[in-house]
Amino acid sequence: MNLLAELSALLTPNELLQGKDIPERYYTPYAESPLAAPLAVARPDTLEKLVSTLAIAHQSACPVIPQGGFTGLAGGANPSPNSLVVAMERYCGIEEIDTAGATVTVRAGTPLSIVQAAVAEQGFTLGIDLGARDSCQIGGLIATNAGGNRAIRYGVMRDQVLGLEVILPDGTLVSSLNRMLKNNAGLDIKQLFIGSEGTLGLITRAVIKLYPALHTPVTCLLSVANAENVTALWRAARTHLPDLLSFEVMWPDFYQFMSSRMPDTPFPLPAEDSFKVLLEYASPIQTAEDLQSALTDTLGAWLESGLINDATIASNLDQARQLWHIREGLPMDNLPALLNFDVSLPIADIDPFVQRCTSQLLNTWPSVICLPFGHLGDSNLHLGISLNQETPNEAAQMAVCELVYRLIGEMGGTISAEHGIGRYKKAYLHHSRHAPEISLMQQFKQLLDPSGRMNPGCVL
Ligand SMILES: Cc1cc2nc3c(=O)[nH]c(=O)nc-3n(C[C@H](O)[C@H](O)[C@H](O)COP(=O)(O)OP(=O)(O)OC[C@H]3O[C@@H](n4cnc5c(N)ncnc54)[C@H](O)[C@@H]3O)c2cc1C
Repeated sequence: MNLLAELSALLTPNELLQGKDIPERYYTPYAESPLAAPLAVARPDTLEKLVSTLAIAHQSACPVIPQGGFTGLAGGANPSPNSLVVAMERYCGIEEIDTAGATVTVRAGTPLSIVQAAVAEQGFTLGIDLGARDSCQIGGLIATNAGGNRAIRYGVMRDQVLGLEVILPDGTLVSSLNRMLKNNAGLDIKQLFIGSEGTLGLITRAVIKLYPALHTPVTCLLSVANAENVTALWRAARTHLPDLLSFEVMWPDFYQFMSSRMPDTPFPLPAEDSFKVLLEYASPIQTAEDLQSALTDTLGAWLESGLINDATIASNLDQARQLWHIREGLPMDNLPALLNFDVSLPIADIDPFVQRCTSQLLNTWPSVICLPFGHLGDSNLHLGISLNQETPNEAAQMAVCELVYRLIGEMGGTISAEHGIGRYKKAYLHHSRHAPEISLMQQFKQLLDPSGRMNPGCVL
């Protein structure tokens, strides 16, 4: 079977891009250089055409790479030269907002921010939010089981999905668009596809939970003397601020580094040797003004008890954005060969890990820059590491990865908290998963994709 001839008969020239007509964005991962172009890019706008596209690729034995907004940071959507990219951007839109059941049924290619805006008009909010909201798509968020800034309140993507529709690698459509909270009729098949990174099937539609819309959040930045106090503050915040949305921690080195590299951003607390906690909370009932006055009392008590050393509350949205910019603005482009790690550990082990990891790195590479920060409340640590060398040294970078992931394995953590395994972390999966677990994953893959053509080289 001739793949391109069959696809050309099915799809319009605008739906099937080939050769020089393929724009670089389909083979340029986020913040990286372009890869080799794929064989073709299919971007159908109907379910029927998506089903036929997968069936044709299956019969032609062509590797298929599902692609959403291409914002994933683990290389999961990276094409190979012989592959067919199935880009979901034209299969987009909101099909239904069920205001009684508080659900939205949405096509996989819809960007997150579009869904957020549509449900806000109906008085709802989504349980998921992250920095790539304008580009990442619902299908990609589900395929990676994304976490984001609100996970301590609403959980991760897996907790948001009630129903799912997927096309299996051979073109079989499995529609399971459940809209009910309780449904125990047999195995919950959707769970297999959530977080499968496009290796088991193509996600086409989903039913997502909605929550009551929130008033404007209150955002503040706190200075905390040491790691023990950060953990104690986390416990206190959960007790005293039930509307907590985010609890983001910046280690002293991170905040000091950012303040030295972002001259145009105000840093309201001095970059002394202390941790900084970015705390945000919002209520569906109380306005920001009401919350703010309660927060002032709470912060006063925390200052008095020594739990925190200093605090600043954003007085408007611009100031809140500036505080978030400190946390999110790690400058990828002016740090030589920055490696970004996204790991998880039990909360009490996070700072001990940071200390052990930093000291082991410094032993071998004395000029290393190590920048820890993360969503501490959901046990998620991000670590930016640069060897700070003029010429990037690939062997040394691989040695850094091995050191970090081995230590994570030894301390009982996971090498991927939210970005997935993709292609970049595949070699390290054994640090987080036992052999029987990996074998079970391989058996599921074999069952659903016996010819191994669905996103080959990703995860397993
Ligand atoms: C600035 C920035 C901030 C970020 N913040 C966070 C964060 O806080 N938390 C977090 O978890 N992630 C974060 N990410 C990572 C990224 O945005 C998420 O992983 C997102 O879920 C990827 O969605 P996407 O549509 O871009 O998917 P892509 O990057 O296109 O694909 C990711 C994976 O999903 C698969 N896939 C995509 N669409 C489908 C589909 N329809 N069916 C089956 N498989 C599919 C791909 O094959 C690939 O394996 C961030 C990224 C950036 C750039």
